[in-house]
Amino acid sequence: MNSDSCVFCRICRKRASGSFIYEDANVLAFLDTIPLNEGHTLIVPRKHYETILEVPEELVALLYKVVKRVALAVKESTKADGISITQQNGKAAGQEIPHLHIHVIPRYDGQRLPRFGEVPEANREKLNQVAADIRLHLQGHLTGKII
Ligand code: ZN
Repeated sequence: MNSDSCVFCRICRKRASGSFIYEDANVLAFLDTIPLNEGHTLIVPRKHYETILEVPEELVALLYKVVKRVALAVKESTKADGISITQQNGKAAGQEIPHLHIHVIPRYDGQRLPRFGEVPEANREKLNQVAADIRLHLQGHLTGKII
């Protein structure tokens, strides 16, 4: 797969629409268009890698730094009881889009998480509202200090 045929590469280059939460030189975070719960976010490397197995360790660290910050912001924004962080590698593992992506999914006490295929695509206006609120919460987590 080359980067023009990859939907996540197109989103990273702003050639396909996305509801963005965060971006820097290496990492982007945007909402899943088929959210399992409201606030379901994907964190991806800007550069095309199919799975985490090909990614340099330094980039893995940068990705998960963003994952943690986004998870905090999503949890606050959605008032979720918990957060799932999941990541599939390869078709056999259930990976549908072959560009590494890490899911951050709000979870609620007693709620069964729907499966992919059970939920409809969200409308862009709603996704943009949700993204704007998560971005507000993210501001507080971008400059955390280690004491
Ligand atoms: Zn890609």
